[in-house]
Amino acid sequence: MSDQTAIVKQIDWSAGFQVVAGHMNLGLTEPSPETKEFWEGVARDELQLKRCRGCRRYLHPRRMACPDCHKAGVEWAPASGTGKVYSFSTIHRAPNPELAKSVPYCVGIVHLREDVYLFTRFIVAQGTEPEIGDPAELEFRILENGQKLPVFAVSNRQA
Ligand SMILES: [Zn+2]
Repeated sequence: MSDQTAIVKQIDWSAGFQVVAGHMNLGLTEPSPETKEFWEGVARDELQLKRCRGCRRYLHPRRMACPDCHKAGVEWAPASGTGKVYSFSTIHRAPNPELAKSVPYCVGIVHLREDVYLFTRFIVAQGTEPEIGDPAELEFRILENGQKLPVFAVSNRQA
């Protein structure tokens, strides 16, 4: 119980969605040794995923090993940049002042063609929401905190 309390106290909302637990940063927007190539890819507008050297399946950028092959090792591989909306939520109330000008905005999980799921920002036409399964296309945007991140533009079927 005391461990959980310690983790909760270290959440720094002023820096965006960032969760620090002990020596581990669980947020998605901070480079770490296992995601260095991911961020180098972002810098040149490329989405890098990991890929198992054994079964060749694509893996989330934070994966350190394939859940099936374990010791086969992983390598970096560029993603196609296409996927579908797997889940989403429209945010109407900004979690911090930085995001106040952006509401309503849409976040969620994109299911990439490589069968990898990523948490992301969805770019949708103003006043609309995506539908589950809508096609989503990779873009790079500088978000409210000044950081460039991969986002996904949704081709909205309602529009
Ligand atoms: Zn594998």
